[in-house]
Amino acid sequence: MWKNIRIVLLLLVLAAVAIQTWRDRIATQSWQESLWVGVFPLNGDGTPSAQSYIEALSAKDFAPIEAFFAREAHRYGVTVAEPVHIELYPPAKELPPALERDVGPLGIAWWSLKLRWYAMHASRVPGHAPARIRLFVLYHDPSTLSVAPDSHGLQKGLVGVVHVFADPGMNGSNNIVIAHELLHTVGATDKYDLATGAPLFPGGYGDRSRIPLFPQAQAEIMAGRRVLSPHEFEMPRSLRDVVAGPETAQEIGWTH
Ligand SMILES: [Zn+2]
Repeated sequence: MWKNIRIVLLLLVLAAVAIQTWRDRIATQSWQESLWVGVFPLNGDGTPSAQSYIEALSAKDFAPIEAFFAREAHRYGVTVAEPVHIELYPPAKELPPALERDVGPLGIAWWSLKLRWYAMHASRVPGHAPARIRLFVLYHDPSTLSVAPDSHGLQKGLVGVVHVFADPGMNGSNNIVIAHELLHTVGATDKYDLATGAPLFPGGYGDRSRIPLFPQAQAEIMAGRRVLSPHEFEMPRSLRDVVAGPETAQEIGWTH
């Protein structure tokens, strides 16, 4: 008897999560109105330099992301004036749960549940409208590490954990990373070789029909790198040199 009740309860919870995920997908892929995206900055390494950096952040630091989404969405026929609105929230107090390496699928599932729980609480800010998509952006002093930890954008739960650098000279590349993870939350997939980082042809190329093919003038956002030659690629300086390719546009509902 009790066993059956427990199973029924579990099935109800799973059904509720599935329905919510489906509703989130409809809402975030319709592009009929502005998608409200919250950026929650965090001091990623506890350094005073990262702290003063996040305290100096303002909405205009993220305006290039809004401009990128508007330019690219309009190119694919989306008509809403501001497809993505970025709202800067006050710094969150607690760091999101970290994903340990090599935890396996069950470990990842457990981490994503903890992350959704964290996002629900950390994104509640009195006096601020709730964000549809929550991006927790962890800033690191570049002198403390050369490569930022892996970032994650989850479509299930509409939440992202993004690692970037607390350096004004890297604002442009930070915004590329943030836009990339934001696109994951609305359904875009990676377009690079996970082992080497090389953009995949054709989806990861800014312009697949360019003659000659190399060097590419622009990067595709879900590849994140501009291809210079068959074995060379580099991170562009800003979103001005980045486009969303047709595969990405279709995955997120800009085209059908
Ligand atoms: Zn990615």
